[in-house]
Amino acid sequence: MMDRDKILVQAKAKLPNVDKSLKQQLDEEIEPVWVCMECALDRGARCPEGHLVTMHTGTCGICKEERNVTEPRDFGITRNKLKVKS
Ligand SMILES: [Zn+2]
Repeated sequence: MMDRDKILVQAKAKLPNVDKSLKQQLDEEIEPVWVCMECALDRGARCPEGHLVTMHTGTCGICKEERNVTEPRDFGITRNKLKVKS
């Protein structure tokens, strides 16, 4: 199991049972493997200052276009804005 999955499982376990809508959101929304700068900026996500991003040409998980893409983790705490419906 990847660390990221473990964190997600822990986060879900901490959620109170009454808040089912938030739990459902976590189940339904996934982070794309790759995301383009345009989509990231569009959603208000940005890289932490001084953070170097390695871009390559690939398919963006949000707009599905072939563009310069990078990993959502490059967007630090704002990466939570990059989720898409599974
Ligand atoms: Zn995109």
